[in-house]
Amino acid sequence: MKKEDNKLNLYFNDNKICEVKWIERPQYYDKKTTNGKDMVKMGQIGGDDCLFFCFQNYCANFKDNKQCKFCNLVSTSKTYNSVIRKKDVQDIGEVAAAAWSEGSVNHVNITGGCYISGKEVEVVSQIISSIKEHTGFEKVPGVILPAPAKGNNIQRYYDTGIQSLGYAMEVWDERTYKAVCPGKSATTSHDEFVESIEKAVEIFGRGHVYVAMVMGLETKETFLEGIRVLSSLGANVIPFVWTPNPGSKLEGHRAPSAEWYVETILEAAEIVYEYQVPWGTENHCYLCDGNSLLHDALRLKGIE
Ligand code: SF4
Repeated sequence: MKKEDNKLNLYFNDNKICEVKWIERPQYYDKKTTNGKDMVKMGQIGGDDCLFFCFQNYCANFKDNKQCKFCNLVSTSKTYNSVIRKKDVQDIGEVAAAAWSEGSVNHVNITGGCYISGKEVEVVSQIISSIKEHTGFEKVPGVILPAPAKGNNIQRYYDTGIQSLGYAMEVWDERTYKAVCPGKSATTSHDEFVESIEKAVEIFGRGHVYVAMVMGLETKETFLEGIRVLSSLGANVIPFVWTPNPGSKLEGHRAPSAEWYVETILEAAEIVYEYQVPWGTENHCYLCDGNSLLHDALRLKGIE
């Protein structure tokens, strides 16, 4: 990166790639809720227009040392201590209203770590009601990414008034999934994920269910097989690039080469394109944060 004429430019060796600009700091980051909480610690803008809430930074899998091997939720939370770990629903509604009134956001992404207690849908329902009450939305544009929603809970999530439902499936190959995600796979099997995603598409509609995968932990062959099956079910797939995060069990390991990522994502984009699942921009788009290469690969094919 070089500073030239008061601009920041990104270089690859001597070749200039593009100018880099910071996103504007939202005004609500300096405001407080009526409960006196710093709004910036409740919900943050991810990328350009996505309002992100993690309503509880906790995952039961860490308790038994069965966390997913790429995950550093607890270590990040301890290191930075920059967010309020358990958020009040009233505060969340107020932050949503403040962010929307500035015109800076278009959709929400709500996640709760992982409770695994069945209570989560009730908490989500209260949060969505609070957002509706404070913003005036009848249907909240955005996605909820809870512990894997199954059975009747899928309809209950739909009834909360959120537009899309997310599944963090992480890894497609069943044996790799069990090895990488020992806690999660003990409570939600590969087959349960697939059945639940199929049911969720029936309820929420094609393009209103999104499946988060971690790309780079399994072979290209099984990863692409997963992309094909999930696309054929009518789900959007968001493969995040695996980086061996500090504080995760895989800290210090090496991810595949950049070439592997590029080759694999271009093939994935061909598969996604073939199935023509409507791209729900309330799920995730190229302007959101997170490191999914699929958006760029699809943009090369004219899909934004
Ligand atoms: S389920 Fe896995 S990825 Fe999700 S918060 Fe828990 S350990 Fe992390």
